[in-house]
This record gives sequence, C-alpha cells and structure tokens, in this order.
Amino acid sequence: MDKIIRIAIDGPSGAGKSTIAKAVAKELGIDYIDTGAMYRAVGYKTISQNIDPQDAAAMGTMLDHTEIDFSQGNIILDGRIINEEIRTDAIAKRASQCSALPAVREKLVQLQRQMGQTKSVIMDGRDIGNNVLPDAEHKFFMTASAEERAQRRYEELAAKGQNVSYEQVLSDIQQRDHSDMTRELNPLRKAPDATEVDTTGMGIEAVTDYILKEIKK
Ligand code: C5P
Repeated sequence: MDKIIRIAIDGPSGAGKSTIAKAVAKELGIDYIDTGAMYRAVGYKTISQNIDPQDAAAMGTMLDHTEIDFSQGNIILDGRIINEEIRTDAIAKRASQCSALPAVREKLVQLQRQMGQTKSVIMDGRDIGNNVLPDAEHKFFMTASAEERAQRRYEELAAKGQNVSYEQVLSDIQQRDHSDMTRELNPLRKAPDATEVDTTGMGIEAVTDYILKEIKK
C-alpha cells in the first residue's frame, strides 16, 4: 500500500482554500475534506430545528443524534445531501457561532481525525495544522487581503443573482475573521511549520501549481 499523506490547508474565509484543495485532491487522486462544511452542517441543523446554540442541553442532545459524512464530493447530514443549503451567509454566521462551542468542536474534530487516519486526505479549515492533524506531512496557510476576499465573494454572490453590496460582504468577512481569530478554542492561527501562501493577485491555477510543487518537493 502507498504511504498515506495528509495535507492541511488553513486560512480565513474567502482565501480560496476549498477551490485549491479540490484541485489538488483531484490532481493527486486523494479525498478532499471540507471541515467548514461540517460546521455549516451543524449551524444549518440548529436553524432548521430552531435550536439556540447557547442552550447547552439542547445542543448536546442534537449532537448525539447527528451524523455527518462525505460521499462523492457531497456533504451528508443525517442521510441527506445538503451541499446547496449550507452556502448562505446566514448559515456561515451561525456556523461560526457554533464553532466556538466546545461540544461542537469536540465532536467534529474527532470525526475529522478519524477521516484522516486510514486514507490520504487534503483537509481545509481553520485549525487543521495546529489541532486536527498536527502530524500532517504538508501544511499550508492561505491568506489574501480582506478586500480581495470580499471582492471574490461579492462576485460569486452577484453571479448567483444575490443582491448584496460589496461593503456588506467586506464587513461580514471582517467580522467573521475577528471571531475566528479571537475565539478561545482553536482560533485561526498559522501553524509554526506551515508554509504561508498569500493569494492576493494570484489566479487559481498559479496557487494550485505552487502547492503541488511544494508537495512534490
Ligand atoms: O470555511 P467555511 O467558511 O465554510 O467555515 C465556516 C465557519 O466554520 C468558519 O467561519 C469557522 O467559524 C468555522 N470553522 C472552524 N474550524 C474549521 C473550519 C471551519 O471553526 N476547521
């Protein structure tokens, strides 16, 4: 059997992590695990079941009865594909709120570690290099200016026909950066041994090529 390789990609929202991770996974023929989608799935479930994230008892019961999995590029919550439903700004906000709760992190980090135990994976998120896969063979920290990340997100939303202003998107991104970087538990922080990749002004192909080269070194 080939040696297992684990690749960690961390960084703030909109840095291009998932686009790049998908491309690298395809090129290397390994699984891509989008850990942000798992926090979004939990956020989505609290909204659809009307659960207050601050209600620890309700959250505990909900988490005990929650199954999250990936199959063929789909995220599956309790047996149902929820790829589209979780891609809204309301879910992103709720996911960020839920991600600060110890019970949520405990459950999801455990699942993520299991996923990276038996097969080669590329995993993206906020705490992969520091916490989920500290022994990963390759670690990257992707950044881009908040303005460029907001511009990319704004164009994505506009293309979907959503009526938002650039200023609103920028302010949402700055708020989410702030809460992800200042929360007590596993805040967003570059791992000491991660390679920093600033994607400001870089296209998808250039970033993917750079990362593939680093991995094959
Ligand atoms: O990456 P994405 O924007 O989908 O992540 C949604 C939210 O989930 C983030 O803002 C962050 O609060 C949380 N998250 C996290 N740890 C991860 C991945 C995501 O706390 N490993």
